[in-house]
Amino acid sequence: MRECFEVRDTDVGGRIGELTVPRADVTVETPALLPVINPNLDTIAPRRLATEFGAEILITNSYIIHGTDDVREQALEDGLHDLLDFPGAIMTDSGSFQLSEYGEIDVTTEEILEFQHAIGSDIATPVDIPTPPDVSRERAEDELATTQERLELADEIDTGEMLVSAPVQGSTYPDLREAAGRHADGTDLDVFPVGAVVPLMNDYRYDDMIDAVAAAKRGLGADAPVHLFGAGHPMMFALAAAMGCDLFDSAAYALYARDDRYLTVRGTRHLEDLDYLPCSCPVCTAHSPADLRALPDDEREEALAAHNLHVTFEEIRRIKQAIRAGNLLELVEQRARAHPTMLDGYRTLLDHAAQLERADPVSKGAFFYTSHESARRPEVLRHHQRLGRLSVPDSLFLTEGSSARGDEFDDSWRVEPPFGPFPRALSKSYPLTAETPDRTDRAALEAAADGVTRLVESNPETDITLGHKGWPAGVLETLPEEVALVDLTADRT
Ligand SMILES: [Zn+2]
Repeated sequence: MRECFEVRDTDVGGRIGELTVPRADVTVETPALLPVINPNLDTIAPRRLATEFGAEILITNSYIIHGTDDVREQALEDGLHDLLDFPGAIMTDSGSFQLSEYGEIDVTTEEILEFQHAIGSDIATPVDIPTPPDVSRERAEDELATTQERLELADEIDTGEMLVSAPVQGSTYPDLREAAGRHADGTDLDVFPVGAVVPLMNDYRYDDMIDAVAAAKRGLGADAPVHLFGAGHPMMFALAAAMGCDLFDSAAYALYARDDRYLTVRGTRHLEDLDYLPCSCPVCTAHSPADLRALPDDEREEALAAHNLHVTFEEIRRIKQAIRAGNLLELVEQRARAHPTMLDGYRTLLDHAAQLERADPVSKGAFFYTSHESARRPEVLRHHQRLGRLSVPDSLFLTEGSSARGDEFDDSWRVEPPFGPFPRALSKSYPLTAETPDRTDRAALEAAADGVTRLVESNPETDITLGHKGWPAGVLETLPEEVALVDLTADRT
């Protein structure tokens, strides 16, 4: 067990956890947002982040502090908490981002870790190599080897109570990401950023982002707190949280504000295109779009940054509540409708249903079937796996209708798309209590047919008859030949 992190509640891959940060003497509840603070330029003062927005943790860049003479001296003298005037936990980045942007930096891992310790950072970061997407495998392997050497070095340095992060690299090679996760998990380091995903998110490649996180998670232990490095747009937080990300940092709130961009959970809007403000935060209740446009540049930037932060923190709270209520995937389904690339991200998440199923709670509040993607949720997969283990009689009627015909058989089970067949005794247990639309779609029928197939294949000795309500021929053709079919809709005429 990692002493610094405890998982309290889970839903799909998402979890509510407690990250204990001993040097700051605070416990941060996750999923958590770390606003990014530029030590030379704060759009929203850190003290205000804590008091007005409830920020428990923030992130700033130790490399920038190190490279700015007066700020460095003040940080060394007074400490980072005094310098920024922030009462919560402070994480520091190391300059890896600058390394990826400019190709070189002038500090070593030892130097920057010692510096982060000296200025009072609570969570430090070594200088890893953020390998971009789509590079050659050889380059990804070479750079990963360097990152791993630096993590081992960081592991050996005595950093006292300061937590140290272990970035997981590997570019767009899932096996390298998984190996990197396993290696990082094997160190005594504390927090695990999935690194170099910013280029993926900048290009709306949420599918590749999910694959990278899923691979890293396979290597990391379930008790590892995972940070999605550079993920600042609230639109994709629910998706990333469902895949198991616990920490998000946002520079977007300030960067977007600088360009008059207004964040929403359905995407970004430009201030000049807004006739109404679809938000009830203090900024949006006190101003109209025209009011905001009329403000002087610095005031407008600050107002937009405050709105952007309110929306972002609100989404984090919404995600926590969804995890607690067991309906995080319903939230992800809503967010997936914000942009086609978000839908790609969600569909990719469902490709990892088997991986997610292992952590998903067996029982939750309700399963809402709200899109054909719902047919691929981990709960459906789990039910199909369970069908292989249920005991069955010699002859069995599976029916979407009443059990009236059951007299001719030893037993009669219900059939509900997307789950397929189940004994009537399970009708009141999750997820078979699902709310589904009356107008069933093809994906739900196909998933139900897969369930029937699973049951037939696990019980070759049983005579199975399926009573269905007009399933299309294409779906019925997927069933094993030995299943006898009764069309219940034809029966009535
Ligand atoms: Zn607002």
